[in-house]
Amino acid sequence: MLLQGVGVGRGSAVGPTLRMPEPLAEPTDEPSDASPSAEFARIHEALAHVAADLEARGAAAGGEAQDVLNAQALMAQDPTIADDIQVRLGDRKSADRAVYEAFAGFRDLLLQMGGYMAERATDLDDVSQRIIARLRGVQAPGVPESETPFILVAHDLAPADTALLDLTKVIGLITREGGPTSHTAILARSKSIPAIVGVGGAEELADGTFVVLDAGSGTVNTQPTDDDLAEARAAIAARAAVAAAPLSAGALADGTLVPLLANLGSADGAEEAVALGAEGVGLFRTEFLFLDATEAPSVETQVAEYERMLRAFVGKKVVVRVLDAGADKPLSFLNDEKEENPALGLRGIRALRASEQILRDQLTALAIAEARVNGFAPDTAPVQVQAASDLGSLEFGDEKVDAAEALASSEQPANTVEVWVMAPMVADYDDTEYFVSLARELGVRVAGVMAEVPSLAVVADQVFDIADFVSIGTNDLTQYTLAADRLLGSVANLQDPWHPAVLRLVGMIGRAGRDASKPVGVCGEAAADPLLAVVLVGLGVTTLSMTPAALADVRAELSRHTLAEAQELARVAVTATSAAAARQAVTRLSAANAVG
Ligand code: PEP
Ligand code: MG
Repeated sequence: MLLQGVGVGRGSAVGPTLRMPEPLAEPTDEPSDASPSAEFARIHEALAHVAADLEARGAAAGGEAQDVLNAQALMAQDPTIADDIQVRLGDRKSADRAVYEAFAGFRDLLLQMGGYMAERATDLDDVSQRIIARLRGVQAPGVPESETPFILVAHDLAPADTALLDLTKVIGLITREGGPTSHTAILARSKSIPAIVGVGGAEELADGTFVVLDAGSGTVNTQPTDDDLAEARAAIAARAAVAAAPLSAGALADGTLVPLLANLGSADGAEEAVALGAEGVGLFRTEFLFLDATEAPSVETQVAEYERMLRAFVGKKVVVRVLDAGADKPLSFLNDEKEENPALGLRGIRALRASEQILRDQLTALAIAEARVNGFAPDTAPVQVQAASDLGSLEFGDEKVDAAEALASSEQPANTVEVWVMAPMVADYDDTEYFVSLARELGVRVAGVMAEVPSLAVVADQVFDIADFVSIGTNDLTQYTLAADRLLGSVANLQDPWHPAVLRLVGMIGRAGRDASKPVGVCGEAAADPLLAVVLVGLGVTTLSMTPAALADVRAELSRHTLAEAQELARVAVTATSAAAARQAVTRLSAANAVG
């Protein structure tokens, strides 16, 4: 049987499936005859067991995951919760029910507190489920454990599940929910795990079913023949060879350069990105630094963060996106309103326009970080910041620097970093003019906008009159073009950047960029799909930015096509009548070109 979903990347995996256990059912609320003290002894053991287990997992994972898991272990040992459980046992609640109610009570409390505390509510749920599982003697929820490698089948994956994925064991992912830009897909891409999301029928896959997962075609073959297995194993070996190939600049077969950049959410991944051949950063998602913040970060805090990132890319370019709040990336200090349709609400540049000082501070911090990294002043100098205009008279230690003059210089020495700044969710000329003029006023040298709202593509010629560059966010551009929520599995089939409507919009921006002689990047997940990346270049895109793990595949695919071939593939894609037809026609023509 062949199950169909949306493939993430083009990897393959061969192996047995293992299901993620469903969440435990809510314990019933029938009076219990068991002795409260005996029940509490059982619970006490379960609390201690779960706390120790979480700590051990944390120690194995290290890093941020360890902090999260240690915090969860503390929740399991919280004396206030233990007292609450004891009271409920005295009220003739069963052990399961008492645990369930006590944790639910604290969960509601956290939710009421809002912000960072509210985000910990799901962690508390997870602890509660683990304890109840221990009491029932069943497997705890979360990623199952296995001695041997397996393909994980899940409804969907929560961030907490994914933090601890053991990549020596989980060789592939299949989920019922999720589209190509869902959390699972992004994780799979960033960790190079072959994955297929939005798979109808995934819930019927029995544990141990030996399958061939082919992300390139988005299929799960549940009854592979010997030939299917041999073919998949050859594909896995070929991909490993691509990953091991020497690093080189992104270029087409005819030598046309297509710089390959990295998408990053903090400086932590910088080293790995450079090691994988990133020629710079095409999307630095600054909101990821402040997702837990309840107040807008200060200029000083931001300067420190940006400096860390910029220093890792000296000699290269870093495109920074100003805070993109809203929908899938809530920032309570920018928009705390409950909105009926958050994806269509006060988000991105709209939220920043409504809180201009936050935007001013961020642009100021970026200009200062750039000035400091590029040697306008000694490293250790204190930063003097009061207002945006301070950039013109920045003082670093004893040195007074005319930053404006330094910024005006168009030369980019090899020991400096080139900082470009862009705004998310820009709709039109008015948004562009607002952002670009404010950025320039505050000392940003290169200011551009993201094309995520279809209207921007339609008026791209006007936008290029003022913006220095446009970077296309295909995740949101697809969501808005097809009116399909990027987080919803039920419409995942529509959330496909291969759709000719999306590609035509990309082509409009590409043409406008060429006419204006200005760069057009793509920094959405589409850039990480090797064959689609070639199509994007054929549509006029000049740089591609992606999760670093995808760089090798994209580099290899670009090197197989000339610009003329990429343009031919683009023509074929935009004249197709559906995303599937575009993908199929381009795959076919590309294979024919390779043979010819
Ligand atoms: C996009 O929308 O394509 C994009 C790059 O931004 P994000 O995924 O962060 O919304
Ligand atoms: Mg976006």
